[in-house]
Amino acid sequence: MLNQRRIAACAILLVPMVLSSCNRSAIIDDARLRSAEQDSGNWLMYGRTYDDHRFSPLNQVNDQTVGKLGLMWSRELNTTRGLEATPLIEDGVIYTTGSWSIVYAIDAKTGDVRWTYDPKTPRERAYFICCDVVNRGVALYRGKVYVGTLDGRLIALDEHTGMLVWTAATTDPDKPYSITSAPRIAGGLVVIGNAGSEYGVRGYVSAYDAETGKMAWRTYTVPGDPSKGFESKAIEAAAKTWQGNWWNAGGGGTAWEGTAYDPALDLVYFGTGNATAWYRALRGSSVSDNLYTASIVAVHAKNGELAWYFQTTPGDNWDFDATQPLLQADLTIGGRQRKTIMQANKNGFFYVLDRETGEFISGAPFVNGVTWASGLDGKTGRPAETQTAYDGAKAVLVSPDPGGGHNWNPMAFSPATGFVYVPARVGTHFVHAPKPKWQYNPDRDNVGGDEAYDGPLYRQIASAPPPSGDLVAWDPIAQRAAWRVNFGAGTEPGGVLATAGNLVFVGRSDGVLLAYRATDGKELWQAKTGTGIMAPPVTYTVDGAQYISVLAGWGGPDGLRGGYNGKSGFGRIVTFAIGGSATLNPPAYGHNGPPMPAMSLNASPAMVKEGGQLFNAQCAGCHGQNAVAGPLPDLRYASRETHQEFEDIVLGGSHATVGMPSFQKILTPAQVHAIQAYILSRARESAK
Ligand code: CA
Repeated sequence: MLNQRRIAACAILLVPMVLSSCNRSAIIDDARLRSAEQDSGNWLMYGRTYDDHRFSPLNQVNDQTVGKLGLMWSRELNTTRGLEATPLIEDGVIYTTGSWSIVYAIDAKTGDVRWTYDPKTPRERAYFICCDVVNRGVALYRGKVYVGTLDGRLIALDEHTGMLVWTAATTDPDKPYSITSAPRIAGGLVVIGNAGSEYGVRGYVSAYDAETGKMAWRTYTVPGDPSKGFESKAIEAAAKTWQGNWWNAGGGGTAWEGTAYDPALDLVYFGTGNATAWYRALRGSSVSDNLYTASIVAVHAKNGELAWYFQTTPGDNWDFDATQPLLQADLTIGGRQRKTIMQANKNGFFYVLDRETGEFISGAPFVNGVTWASGLDGKTGRPAETQTAYDGAKAVLVSPDPGGGHNWNPMAFSPATGFVYVPARVGTHFVHAPKPKWQYNPDRDNVGGDEAYDGPLYRQIASAPPPSGDLVAWDPIAQRAAWRVNFGAGTEPGGVLATAGNLVFVGRSDGVLLAYRATDGKELWQAKTGTGIMAPPVTYTVDGAQYISVLAGWGGPDGLRGGYNGKSGFGRIVTFAIGGSATLNPPAYGHNGPPMPAMSLNASPAMVKEGGQLFNAQCAGCHGQNAVAGPLPDLRYASRETHQEFEDIVLGGSHATVGMPSFQKILTPAQVHAIQAYILSRARESAK
């Protein structure tokens, strides 16, 4: 109705000025999305265009003028958690998400909030969300804003008012599914995947009618219980690549990011995550591929039927999800015009596939020090695993780590330079120690790691510097880096934006937003945002001025486990333009060191040690490794009152509504006591 009224108003006031503004306010339909490339002032889709280039034709900010870029405005989003969203911009309005799947409509010129929508995701679900309460953004289509929520709902809102239009439950609320990805639009359908392979769910992708919210199709990524029959031939074929009773743990293979659509081929592409458990030997699958986990999958948009698949990591043993962003480009390779789809995979290899057929075209490592595979088969792309990559149920030391050589942080492609700009993670290692007696337990994570493992492999990496980030300009035809910039030990990259101004923008975990010359990687500009950046910058125009905007907010698994290091504490959207002179005043954050705790427990050294192991296994994912926390409460500072209520909080769930779930099904009172003794011990050690 609103759109009909708007069209009517335009028809009445038919003068040239108004006509042009009416055209700019045109409804976002399939035609407008297909021609998003020409809509230079807007950013209508996750990757800006269907091919996910994240390349803007705007060039007011360019390699000559970028030095004059300054802050125009910033807006606090009232969160200390990670921010990962790509803001979408339609005609002067920013639509984005923050923590807990909350949606914001913000004036793109002033930063004033027009409306917010809080889906009120139950905070106690935080236990079953592996990697922070993040969300990567919304989709826009025909006057609606679509968001997937942490508790598995797909919601349509009115774009003008933020009022609820429809809700679809896309997952079983009794299972540990979650959604962190942005929905994608494909021919009148809203496509959404889910997450949860670290806990044990069966992955799938669903498509809903954008108008009504009625489900059009659902395609599973792994087979279910064979005794209940198979949904398709493709799933029946996949079942032959599994052993044991995999369906008890769900199987995994969740499509939690990396979704794309080619409207010409009418194919939807998505990547899938790890199998459950992470470890091949625990799945009883020492020689099996476990289709379609750790794969890039193409399905027909009209019905969700499998078109092709390419498995990047057969029989994955290292959490090498293939869920990184998928980027399409038509390239001339070996004298042939190829319709390609590309991915810089967690496993450290950059893949170029034929997106019509799934044929492997080429692949090469885009980070140094990949230890799990020596290379890819030139014809099939199948990896050649090294001797040290897998040793049954014994621990192995592998690079890249489960965060990957590249994760969800979007890359960009510049048609002007021909390079793909990859925010890579380098210098990562991980000891994968399977727990030989692992059994599926629906009340906890089902990675299958041995929390008590304390073997010699850790000592091999004890003195290694922390991981860092590379911005890599990757030539996808030659499969080699054209240039590469390293951010220094401990500094990781956020997502990337490329522009026709011969610029590449990227944020870093130390809160610095940078612009590089796209052709050669020369650093041209930087600004401090006061908070670590994970999200990708975007660019748009309002009233003829070009703006660069990014969400700054550090978190995710590294942010929560890694402790306070000057990166975390706030969440905000910051926006820059030529001549901007606003100032950013980050509120003070951090502590000088905890005071001596006001109580103590009778605890033996053995109990404190056990408490430390339990803490790092069960608590550190949110409250920081060795009890040095980042965005969430640092328990070394816990008050006497908190310690007096400790068991009630941890087992009784008395703080569940603020995101501290009950661990009643996971820890015994004696174990909680040991954890408390460890926290008090750490507080005494750190007291100043
Ligand atoms: Ca995973």
